[in-house]
Amino acid sequence: MKGIGASPGISIGKAYIKKDDIDIKKYNIDNVNEEIKRFHKGLCNSKSQIEELIEKTKKDIGKEEANIFKSHKLILEDPEFIGQVEEKIEMNYINSEWAIKEVIEFFMDLLGNLDNDYIKERKADFKDVSNRLVRNLLGKRGVDFNEIEEGAIIIAKDLTPSETINIPKDRVRGFITEIGGKTSHTAIMSRNINIPAIVGVGKILRDLENEDIIAMDGETGEFHINPEKRIIDMYEKRKIEYEKYRKKIKNLIGTKSVSKDGFQVSIGCNIGSIDDLDYVIGNDGEGIGLFRTEFIYMNRHSLPTEEEQYDKYRLVAEKMEGKPVIIRTLDIGGDKEIPYLNLPKEDNPFLGFRAIRYCLENRDIFKTQLKAILRASAHGNIKIMFPMISSVGEIRSAKKILEEAINELSKGNINYNKNIEVGIMIEIPSAALISDKLAKEVDFFSIGTNDLLQYTVAVDRLNERISPLYCQYHPALLRLIKMIIENGHKNNIWVGMCGEVAGDTKLVPILLGLGLDEFSVSPSSVLKVRDSITSLDKKSMEEHALNVLDLSGGDEVLRYINKNIK
Ligand code: PEP
Ligand code: MG
Repeated sequence: MKGIGASPGISIGKAYIKKDDIDIKKYNIDNVNEEIKRFHKGLCNSKSQIEELIEKTKKDIGKEEANIFKSHKLILEDPEFIGQVEEKIEMNYINSEWAIKEVIEFFMDLLGNLDNDYIKERKADFKDVSNRLVRNLLGKRGVDFNEIEEGAIIIAKDLTPSETINIPKDRVRGFITEIGGKTSHTAIMSRNINIPAIVGVGKILRDLENEDIIAMDGETGEFHINPEKRIIDMYEKRKIEYEKYRKKIKNLIGTKSVSKDGFQVSIGCNIGSIDDLDYVIGNDGEGIGLFRTEFIYMNRHSLPTEEEQYDKYRLVAEKMEGKPVIIRTLDIGGDKEIPYLNLPKEDNPFLGFRAIRYCLENRDIFKTQLKAILRASAHGNIKIMFPMISSVGEIRSAKKILEEAINELSKGNINYNKNIEVGIMIEIPSAALISDKLAKEVDFFSIGTNDLLQYTVAVDRLNERISPLYCQYHPALLRLIKMIIENGHKNNIWVGMCGEVAGDTKLVPILLGLGLDEFSVSPSSVLKVRDSITSLDKKSMEEHALNVLDLSGGDEVLRYINKNIK
């Protein structure tokens, strides 16, 4: 069976099935004041539990994860939420639990039904908070992890972030959830606490019982229920190999990313928040190849000010101590919604009014961000990157606004790096095809394969129904990558890649052969990619790259790589 590998590692253990146990009943109350008091007592208990969780998470995992619970506390303190629950109790004479259920459902509806990770996460947060509140009102405890025995693999419909943090790490060997994606909070936390995890496996709870034996591979997403001995032996062997591999790549901390024949690349990291930085530094990231700044605009009710942004960008630059930090300007739209911007609904948001298109029409918002980035550039090695560029005209327009921002800072005698590098993402086929022209306008390219692939093969990157067609081994994508790198180099600019392909160790040899200068990957992949680069010979990879470009399909490319490279 197969799901989405969310946290690597091999485990064999006994299933522990987590049941969803809250059954909310509606009933009428006589005394409104007493009921509102009861609601507030529930709020108060829930808040103190969350405060404890914030502290525990900070200590056990990190500040970023603790922020998840801070946002839970904010929901409980939100006057809008409290007011609406009170109003329902007063108007309808109903119990607090039912009023909470209705208000939370209303909040979740407001978020809409977009199948995107941000919306899913916000909904999961609401659910987590309301479950806690209702449990406290009913005097029920949550999942009792104390009863979990050593060697358990938790199987659940979903795990909330609060459940994930409370998992007894010494006794749990992994978890598998029916829903969820690779970038869900739960998946991120499981990676940080090093517990193998598989998410999004679909309906399996009905086929399982407590104590069933599970063998799982959190990298590939494969798992077996009550497997025969042969499979268990195979997983045992893979587990030993995996642990040896982890130990080996840890030794690469502090070393350079140089191929056997002396070609050096840089391996930076993709981040979405300043809290990811500890993880970047812990994994020896050589810079930030992509700072997805749109997350600074999300999870709040209004635009971040220049000052707020400046503080964040400056902190990243300072923490990276002179290593490059590429700050991508606002890339909203598509799967990234910012509700308070009230963007009109579009039939094809991925082909719509997004990213640089939005910024060029909302110059004030754009200029505020550019000024914040420029000011921060006085404190480190910051570079600016524009997303979703499809033509030369767009770069020129974006650079004009950048110039205005520069002039305003100069007039105010405000410091910034006068030689700041300006680059673009190449993530639209038109940009790849005219990359010879685009290269004359900028200092670097970063290839965004997540979008470049979806536009090249015409497959929505979020649509699970057609996900097999979203194949990163497609020779069309590889040919575009070759063209972009060549055009960049011909014009003396460096070319990086910040899409997920940069962390795919099957494709790293091909990218090395094509001459990619910089790989920007998730922090947990830095050492894996360095291990791959240092074991390869660039000259031979050049030949393999030419061979795969001549194949006719993704399956052939993958077969070629599996057969001929390491
Ligand atoms: C990409 O498109 O490859 C990319 C890195 O940007 P995002 O995933 O944020 O769209
Ligand atoms: Mg993109």
